[in-house]
Amino acid sequence: MTVDLRAPLQFVKGIGPRRAADLAGAGLHVLEDLLLRLPRRYDDREHVRPIAELRAGAATSVVGGVLSAGERRTQRRGFRIFEAIVGDASGQVRAVFFNQSFLSDILVPHRQVALFGTVEYGRTGGGLRFTNPEYEVLAGDASDEGDQRVHTGRIVPIYERVGSVTPKMMRRVLHACLERLPPDVGDPLPEEVRRRCGLLERRTALVQAHFPASGTPLEDLNSYRSAAQRRLIFEEFFVFQLGLALKRRETDTVRKPHEIVVDDRIRRAALDVLPFRLTGHQRQALKEIVDDLRREQPMNRLLQGDVGSGKTIVALLAALVAMENGLQAAFMAPTELLAEQHFLNIARLLEPSRFEPVLLTGTLGAKERRTAWERLAAGSAQLAVGTHALVQESVRFNRLGFAIIDEQHRFGVIQRATLRRKGLQPDVLVMTATPIPRTLALTAYGDLDVSVIRELPPGRQPVATRVASEERRAEIYRFVQHELSAGRQAYVVYPLVEESEKVDLKAATEMAHHLEKDVFPDLRVGLVHGRLGSGERETIMRAFAAGEIDLLVATTVIEVGVDVANASVMLIEHAERFGLAQLHQLRGRVGRGTHRAHCILLHGVRLTAAARARLAAVNATTDGFEIAERDLEIRGPGDFVGTRQSGLPTLRTGDLLRDHRVMEDARQAVHAWLAEQPPRATLDAAVAGWSERFHLVEVG
Ligand code: ADP
Ligand code: MG
Repeated sequence: MTVDLRAPLQFVKGIGPRRAADLAGAGLHVLEDLLLRLPRRYDDREHVRPIAELRAGAATSVVGGVLSAGERRTQRRGFRIFEAIVGDASGQVRAVFFNQSFLSDILVPHRQVALFGTVEYGRTGGGLRFTNPEYEVLAGDASDEGDQRVHTGRIVPIYERVGSVTPKMMRRVLHACLERLPPDVGDPLPEEVRRRCGLLERRTALVQAHFPASGTPLEDLNSYRSAAQRRLIFEEFFVFQLGLALKRRETDTVRKPHEIVVDDRIRRAALDVLPFRLTGHQRQALKEIVDDLRREQPMNRLLQGDVGSGKTIVALLAALVAMENGLQAAFMAPTELLAEQHFLNIARLLEPSRFEPVLLTGTLGAKERRTAWERLAAGSAQLAVGTHALVQESVRFNRLGFAIIDEQHRFGVIQRATLRRKGLQPDVLVMTATPIPRTLALTAYGDLDVSVIRELPPGRQPVATRVASEERRAEIYRFVQHELSAGRQAYVVYPLVEESEKVDLKAATEMAHHLEKDVFPDLRVGLVHGRLGSGERETIMRAFAAGEIDLLVATTVIEVGVDVANASVMLIEHAERFGLAQLHQLRGRVGRGTHRAHCILLHGVRLTAAARARLAAVNATTDGFEIAERDLEIRGPGDFVGTRQSGLPTLRTGDLLRDHRVMEDARQAVHAWLAEQPPRATLDAAVAGWSERFHLVEVG
C-alpha cells in the first residue's frame, strides 16, 4: 500500500491524534507538509569519527556505548550536573549536562548513543568533553529494535522537535512513508522547467532530502545545497514567484484615464526648480520614474536610498512633471514634523514654478484645514504635502494623478490603498530610507518596481562612528564640549519605547536639565519630544536649525527627515535599545554639512549578544544596504523592519536569506516560462494552492 501525500497526519502510521495536534500547531497538517519540512541538519553515522580523534573546538558527532553515568550536586544551590562517559573502541569522552536529571533514565549504561556538539577542554581538567550536547539513544532501548538501519550506519536527518514529536520519531515516520511513496507524487513544477533547470524529479528529491544517498557531502547537506534540497526549495520559490508574476499581470491591465507627456517646456520647468546638479543615481532614478509616468499603466515603484541620498528632489521633479500635465500630486510623510519640513522645503523649491503646495496635517486649525480641503477639491492647489491626514474620508482631490509616500515602512497597506482610491488610477511612488536587501525586495515587494540611489551627493564625508560604554561618559562629554566650542551643534537622543514612554520621557527631560545646568552651563540646551504640540516642536527645531540652540536633547521624533547642516555630533543614549535600522537613520541626521561629523553610541555596561552585534554592525559600515543585510541576518526575516506588515511569505522549505540565489533563479525561470506562453491549463495547475499558501502585499 502506498501513502497519500494529502493524507491528514493523524492517520499516518506512528502519529495519531495527539501528536497530530502538536504538528498542526506548527502548521503541519498533511503528510506532504511533513515531507516538505527539511531536516534541521544531517549527521553522518556512516563514517563515524573514532572518539580518539576528537579535536577541541570542532562540532562533531560520536557514537559509542554509555560506560557510566550519574548526577552530582554542585556548590551552587539548585544546580546539578549529569555526567556520562561514552566510549568506543578507540577511547572515551565525557559529556556533561546541566540540570537535566531526567537523563538518568535515558543515558543508561550499556546503551548505544550518538552525541553531537562541540568538544572543549573542561576548566577542571579531565580531558575533552561535550557540554550539553544533543544526544540520541541508538540501541538498548527496547522500543526500536529492528529499525537500526534507519538511525545508524547512514547519513541521518536530524529534525526539529515539534511538541511531543521527537526528532527520532519524526525520522522513523518519514522513513516509513518515504518507502511507500506512490510512483507519481505530483509536481507543482512544470516538467519543462524542471528539465531546463536541471532539477531532480520530485519523488527522488523527497527521498534524498530526508535520507541522502551514501557519499553525499555533509557540508552540502548542512548548507542546504544538495541537489535534492535545492530542487524542493526551488519548487517552493517557483510557485511563489509565479503567483507574484501573475498578480503583476493583473495590475498591468489597469489603464490610467489620462496621458502624461514630457516636452521641452516641462524639462525647462524642471531645471528652473533644480537647486543643484543631480547625481548619476538620482538622474537614473528620475528617468525610471518619468518613464513609468509616461506609460499607460499606473506606476508602482519603490525608490530606495539611504538617509541623505536625495530622494526628495527626485520625487519632487517627478511630481512637477505630473503637475505640468494638469494633474495633482500628494506627498505623504509619516510624522507631522517631517511633513512640515517637507512642506517648507518644497514650498521654497517650487517658488520659481507656477505651483503651490498646501500642508495638511492632523494638527492644523479647523479653518486652515478647510481652506486646504477646498483648494485641493477645486484644484487651485496642485500639491498636497501632509501626514495620513491626507487619506481622511473628507479629503477630495480634483485630479490626483501622482502619490508619493515617504518612509514607506511606517504606512500600512490600507493607507496606501486609500490614497490610491482618491485619485484617477494615480502613479504611486513609495520611498524608503531603510534599504531593503534585494532578496526581500524581490519577495515582499515583488509587485513593485525598484529604483535605487546608492550614492550620496558629492562632498559628504562618512560619519565617524564610535561605540562606547556608559563608563566613558565623562570623556564623551569633553568631546562634545570640544565640538560645540568650535561652533558646531549636537543631538543627544533618547530611546522612547511605547511601553515605558512616561519613564523614558522623564529620563530625557531630566537629562536635558542636567546637561544644561551641570555639564554644559555655558551652552544653550533644547528639548524636543513627541508629546509637544507640533507648533512647539517646530519652534524648537527652527531655533536649532537657526543655531540658537547648541545642543538638542531629543527622543526619536527626530529620526526621520530633520536636516541641520551645522550639527556634527549625534550622541545616542542607551544605544543598545535601538534597532539597527534606527541607529543608522539617526546617524544619518549628521554629516549633512561640510564639517566632519561624529556619531557616538553610548551603551550600558551589560549587553546582550544581539545588541552587541547591532552596535558592531553600525560601527563597521555607513552603507545602508550593508546595514540592512546585517539587520536581516541578526533578526531574521520575520523581524526585519517593516516586513511584518508588508506580507512576507511564510516559507517552509526555503529560507529567504540562506537561499536567496535560488529565489533569483526561480524568478528568472518563472519569467522565461511565462514568456513562452504556457497553456492556460498548465498555468492553472501551477497556480493551484498558491493563494492559500501565500499572502501578498496589496499595493492597492
Ligand atoms: P533623503 O533621501 O534622506 O530624503 P533628502 O532628499 O532630504 O534625502 O536630501 C538630503 C540633502 O541633500 C538635502 O539637503 C538635499 O537638498 C541635498 N541634496 C540632494 N541631492 C543633492 C545633490 N545632487 N547635490 C547636492 N545636494 C543634494
Ligand atoms: Mg527623506
